[in-house]
Amino acid sequence: MADTPTEVATSTSTETATSTATSVEVPPPQQPKPATELPKRWADIEDEVAEEKGVPELDVGSLAIDENKKINKFLDEPEDSNIKAVSSSDTPYTSAYTFEELNLSPELLKGLYVEMKFEKPSKIQAISLPMIVTPPYLDLIAQAHNGSGKTTCFTLGMLSRVDPKIQAPQALCICPTRELAIQNQEVLNKMGKHTGITSACAVPMDSSNYIPINKRPPITAQVVIGTPGTIKKWMSSKKLGVSYVKILVFDEADQMLAEDGFRDDSLRIMRDIERISSHCQVLLFSATFNEAVKNFVAKIVKGNHNQLFVKKEELSLESVKQYKVKVPEELSKIMVIKERIFEFGERLGQTIIFVRTKNSASMLHKSLVELGYDCTTIHGNLTVDDRDKIVKEFKDGLTQVLISTDLLSRGFDQQQVNLVINYDLPVKYPNREPDYEVYLHRIGRAGRFGRKGAVFNFLCGEADQMIMSKIENHFGAKVEEVADWRSEEEFKSALKSAGLL
Ligand code: ADP
Ligand code: MG
Repeated sequence: MADTPTEVATSTSTETATSTATSVEVPPPQQPKPATELPKRWADIEDEVAEEKGVPELDVGSLAIDENKKINKFLDEPEDSNIKAVSSSDTPYTSAYTFEELNLSPELLKGLYVEMKFEKPSKIQAISLPMIVTPPYLDLIAQAHNGSGKTTCFTLGMLSRVDPKIQAPQALCICPTRELAIQNQEVLNKMGKHTGITSACAVPMDSSNYIPINKRPPITAQVVIGTPGTIKKWMSSKKLGVSYVKILVFDEADQMLAEDGFRDDSLRIMRDIERISSHCQVLLFSATFNEAVKNFVAKIVKGNHNQLFVKKEELSLESVKQYKVKVPEELSKIMVIKERIFEFGERLGQTIIFVRTKNSASMLHKSLVELGYDCTTIHGNLTVDDRDKIVKEFKDGLTQVLISTDLLSRGFDQQQVNLVINYDLPVKYPNREPDYEVYLHRIGRAGRFGRKGAVFNFLCGEADQMIMSKIENHFGAKVEEVADWRSEEEFKSALKSAGLL
C-alpha cells in the first residue's frame, strides 16, 4: 500500500517525459469531465481500478444486537454474528433494535407485525436498514447468511422510499430467476399491504398470456421486480420509464455481477438508470461474494458507500448439519434416498433434491415415481406455467419432495424445508471445479431463519470425494461422514443429531 502513490507518480512522470521527448501530443492521464456530465458513481468496466480509499471500519460492536434481546426464544439467531461493516462516509449509523426506530410509516409497521408476523429486526436488518433508509441514502453492498432476512432489508428499503402520490416506477429490483422475482414480489405485496403501493413483476410470460410489449400501456406500478432480460426489454421499448427511480436493488448480486452471470445486463440497467435519474441508490445483496466479484465491485463502485461482509469461513449455517455419504454407484443414490432417508417419511419436513442436469432430474424423478413416491421436478426446460405451478404446489405444502436443478439453489424461501440432498455436487464447467457459492446457497435452502436442517451430500467415486474435500477446505468446515450407506441406524442418528427426528 505504501508503495502505491510512488508507483502512480513514476508512471505519470514517465509518460510526460516520453511525450516531451517525442513531441507527440498525449492526452493527460485523466481527462476532466465535461461540466455538464454528472459524476458517475458506477464506473465503466474499462475504468481504472478505483483508488483504494482509507475507508474506516464501522464500530460493529455498537451495531450489534444485544444477546439478551434475541428475536425468538425458540429459534437460534441467524448465524450472521460476524458481519464486518465498512463505510466510506461520515454518516453515523445506529443499529435498530426495533422496527419503530426506523421511522417507518404506521402502514409499513402494520405490514411487518400483522402481515409478516415479525417481532424484531434480525441482525442484518438491524445493521443495514438504518444505512438504507437514512439520508443521504448511500449505496450498499451487503453480505449476510442464507436465511437471515435480506429480502426484508431491501423490500423495506423500497417500500419506505416510494412516494405513494407518484404513480410511476420509483424502485426496481432485479433477480436472477423468475421464481425469485415472483417470490420477492409476493413478500413486497404482503409487507406493503397497508401502504397501497403498487408493484409489477417483469418476468417472461407463457405464450398463452403473452402480450407483446408494444401493445401494453406504460408501466405505472411504483415498484418493479423482475429478471434482467424482461426489465431491459421493458426499458428499451420505453414502457418502463426510470426517471423517478430512486432505488435499484440487485438480489443475489454476486450472480448478477458475475462475468458468467448477468454482468452485462446488470451494468447496462444500472447505467441507463443513472443517466436519467441522477440520485439512484444502489443496493447489492447476497450471501456470497467471491473474490473475483468482490474485486469487480470494488472497481465499479465509486463515491461514498457502505459495505457489510462476512468471512467465508463463517458463512456455513450452524443450525444446518452437513453430512457426506459415499456410495458405490450412481444407482445406489436412489436406494439411499428411498430406503434410508424417506423411511422416516412424515417425520421429516419438506425436502429438496439438487441435481446437476435436467437429464438426471428426469431420471431420478422417473425412478422415484416408479417406486411409488410422490415428487415433482423443476428445471429451466419446463414451460413457465409448469414452473409456477410446481413452485406453488410445493409452497402450499401439497408436495413434500422437490427435485431441482440449480434453478432454485438461490433465494428460494420455504421455511418447512429442513432436508437438502445434493444428489450431485455442484461444479463449474468446463473444468468441474467445485462451485462453492452454489454449494452454500443450496444448503441454505434448509435452516431458514435459524431453523434446524440437514444436508446429505452423495459422493460417487474419487472425483466427488475430491470436490467435497475442496468444499470443506474452502469453508473451513469438516463435513461428517455417514460411514456406511447401507446402515439405517447411521442415517437415523444423523437425522437425530441434526434435530430432525
Ligand atoms: P435471505 O437472507 O436468505 O434472503 P429471507 O429474506 O428469504 O432470507 O428470509 C428468510 C426467512 O426469514 C423468511 O421466511 C422470512 O420471512 C423470515 N424473516 C425475515 N426477517 C425476519 C424477522 N425479522 N423475524 C422473523 N422472521 C423473519
Ligand atoms: Mg435472499
